[in-house]
Amino acid sequence: MTLFDRSKRYYQFYAQVHFLTCETCLSHHGEISEDPKHKPPLHPDCRCHLLEFPQPQLEHYQGQAERMKLRAQQELVRRRLWREAVASLNSADPTHAEALFRQAAQVEFYLEEVEQLCAEKREIFEKNPELRARLQKLFIRFYRMKFSLDKYRPIPPRLILAWETAGIERLKELLP
Ligand SMILES: [Zn+2]
Repeated sequence: MTLFDRSKRYYQFYAQVHFLTCETCLSHHGEISEDPKHKPPLHPDCRCHLLEFPQPQLEHYQGQAERMKLRAQQELVRRRLWREAVASLNSADPTHAEALFRQAAQVEFYLEEVEQLCAEKREIFEKNPELRARLQKLFIRFYRMKFSLDKYRPIPPRLILAWETAGIERLKELLP
């Protein structure tokens, strides 16, 4: 009797967790099955894939799945916080919005979302140089913090520095 059936295959669902990943794909991130019901691509531009592995590695991938599910959940929380921050942003008292932005940035921070924010709140920003200055300072800090996240560790420091410099320039343009 063998402990493992080596011919038995499993599949793990991999979504790329970032601000554009749809909620459906995020909900499957990490999912393990022998006969996957959800086979990517799930929609146009879906960047998910299935990773095949043999039964002896099941325990390892189950551990992985826990971490992946947590990351997907954190991304959903991050989006909610960011949206709340944007909605509550007003020139009279930006401190509540700033606190929410800060919480969201603990998970991740995306320049593309700042671009969206600046387009959406253009009127408020045009009238409030003080608010622009506050947010510029805050977002530059987040942008620097971003690259200390684990996922950026394998990236060469020189490349990180180039991204950081370009990102900070862009933030200064967006919130002059
Ligand atoms: Zn997908």
